[in-house]
Amino acid sequence: MRDKRFRVYRKPASGRRDSKKSIDDIVRELRNSSRVTDYRERSLKIHGLICAKCAREFDYKDRHLLTVHHKDGNHMNNPPDGSNWENLCVYCHEDEHSRGLLGDYFADEK
Ligand SMILES: [Zn+2]
Ligand SMILES: [Zn+2]
Repeated sequence: MRDKRFRVYRKPASGRRDSKKSIDDIVRELRNSSRVTDYRERSLKIHGLICAKCAREFDYKDRHLLTVHHKDGNHMNNPPDGSNWENLCVYCHEDEHSRGLLGDYFADEK
């Protein structure tokens, strides 16, 4: 007697997988990754709910749209005074890392 398993093959979503992540995807990842939140919350507290680049202000309920950018690019450098952090909205952060570097912004958090 064999235990047959059904494999679920996903339909390729018209090449979307290989294309750039949408803002929605990024936001979803951010919300799901709790490991980002420790210094993130801190940075938001220090610098306020405002994007350092476009000066867009955010409500508490919209604060998942704000991300922490590391000024020196080193995600391990998290001084408690927030001097290496910059709050950027997801749009500006995308812009800041326009060459796909935002991908390892998330990958490096492990
Ligand atoms: Zn912005
Ligand atoms: Zn960044």
